Amino acid sequence: MFGHPNAATLTYYGLYALQHRGQESAGIVTANGPNSPFKRHVAMGLVSQVFNSSDLEKLVGNRAVGHVRYSTSGSSNLVNAQPFVVNTARGQIAVAHNGNLVNAPLLREELEERGSIFQTTVDSEIILHLLAQPSEPDGVLAALRKIHGAFSLVMMSEREIIGVRDPFGFRPLSIGKLDGAWVLSSETCAFDLIHAEFVRDVEPGEVVIIDENGIRSEWPFQQEQRAFCIFEYVYFARPDSLISNINVARVRTEMGRELARMHPAEADVVIPVPDSGNYAAMGFAEELGIPYSHAFVRNHYIGRTFLQPSQLIRDFNVRVKLNLIKEAVAGKRVVVVDDSIVRGTTARARVVNLREAGAAEVHMRISCPPHKHSCFYGIDFPDPEKLLANQCSLDQIREYLGADSIGYLDVPAMVRATGQPQNQFCLACFTGKYPIPVDPNLDKHIMERRSTRPNLLASHDSSPSLFPRKP
Ligand code: SF4
Repeated sequence: MFGHPNAATLTYYGLYALQHRGQESAGIVTANGPNSPFKRHVAMGLVSQVFNSSDLEKLVGNRAVGHVRYSTSGSSNLVNAQPFVVNTARGQIAVAHNGNLVNAPLLREELEERGSIFQTTVDSEIILHLLAQPSEPDGVLAALRKIHGAFSLVMMSEREIIGVRDPFGFRPLSIGKLDGAWVLSSETCAFDLIHAEFVRDVEPGEVVIIDENGIRSEWPFQQEQRAFCIFEYVYFARPDSLISNINVARVRTEMGRELARMHPAEADVVIPVPDSGNYAAMGFAEELGIPYSHAFVRNHYIGRTFLQPSQLIRDFNVRVKLNLIKEAVAGKRVVVVDDSIVRGTTARARVVNLREAGAAEVHMRISCPPHKHSCFYGIDFPDPEKLLANQCSLDQIREYLGADSIGYLDVPAMVRATGQPQNQFCLACFTGKYPIPVDPNLDKHIMERRSTRPNLLASHDSSPSLFPRKP
C-alpha cells in the first residue's frame, strides 16, 4: 500500500484475506519516506498470531509491504520469513515474492562467488542481492532481467513501491485504489476486505512504479507467451477473487458442469470435499439435476498438530479436518467431487469414511486432469514418484481409492471452463510441457561442483582461533 496513513493496519487486513496463500509465516514492513528507517515485524504463524495491536502501532508509515508465506523453496523457519529488508547503496529495500525462480541455484552460485553472503535458503533473497549490486543506470530493471521463472514481486524503496509480474504471468498481481492510495495484491479478495476499488491486473512483464507522482509502467522484459497458472483457478485462489477479470467461483462451477458432461453418474446425492471442491460439486449437481449436500463438515479451527507421525495420528489428521454427516450418505449412491488428487492418501480416506457411513456407491469426480508432473513455478507438489497419477493407471487409481468409478476433467474441458484460450495457460503439471525449461537436477549438479573445489580454509586449520575455547 502506498500513500495511506493506516498503511500497516490495512495491509494487515489484506494479509487476512490472503491467508489461504500461506500459513507458515507472516510479515509487514512499513516506511515513511526518504531517510526514515523501515519498520519490520515478521514471525512464524498465522496473521492472527503474528500481529497484535502494539505490533501494528510500531509499524508507522504511510506505505507498507506485507507477505504470507508457504514454502516452495527453502525451509519453513523465521529466517526465511518475508518481506526481506536490505540496506543497499540505493538505500533500504524491502521485497515480498510470490513464485519460484528457475535459475535460482545458478544465480546464487554466481553471487556467492562475487562475495554475497546469504542469510536465508529461499530463492527470493537472490532478488535482494541482485538489487544490492553496484548501480547501473537502470539498476532495478537490470536486476529483474537476470531472474527467470515465476515471480510476482512487491518491492519498497524509500521513495516508491514497485510491483513486478514475470513476462509469463504465472502468478497473479492486481492493482487497487483506496482513498487516493494505491494498493497491490496477489488477489482481489484483499481489496474487497479493505473497501479498495479493483483497478486492473498488473500485466505479464509489466513493472508498475508507484510514487508521490502517481503510477507509471515499465516493460523491461522480452515478451513471452503468457502462461498463467491454471491451478490458481482450480484450487489455489480464493473463490471470491477475480483473475483476468473472471470470478474464480464461476470458473470452478463451470469446471463442475464440464465434469458432469464428461463423466456423468447415476447417483442420489453430490457432495463436495470442502472447501475447494464446493463450486465444482455445485456445477456437477446442477448439470445433472442431482441433489447437492454438504455431507463433509470442515473444522476451521485446527492449527498445526505437533504430534509424532504414527498411523493413529495420520488417521486423526485426516479425520480432524473433515467429519461426515452419516445420514446424508447412508444407503445412497454418492458422487464426491474434489478439486485434485495429489498423493491420494486423503482421497482414499474420504472413500473409507463414506463406506463406513453406509454409502451404497461412491463415485469420485475430480475437477482437473490427473497430476503427473512437478511444478517448478511456485506450487509445492511432491516429486513425481509420489504423485498417484504418475505411478498408476486410471483403473489402478480407482482401485487404490476403493471407489466404484472415477472421472477426471481433461485439459480442453478445464481450459474451456475458464473462457480463455489454451495458449494463455501453464498446464505443465498435467501435460509435462514446461513454459520455461527446467533442470530438476540443477541443485544437485551445483552441489557436486562445489564439493570438487579446493577448501580455501584448509590451510588455516592450524591457525589459532580468535576466540579460543577456555581450557
Ligand atoms: S505446473 Fe501446474 S501448478 Fe505449476 S504453475 Fe504450471 S499449472 Fe500451475
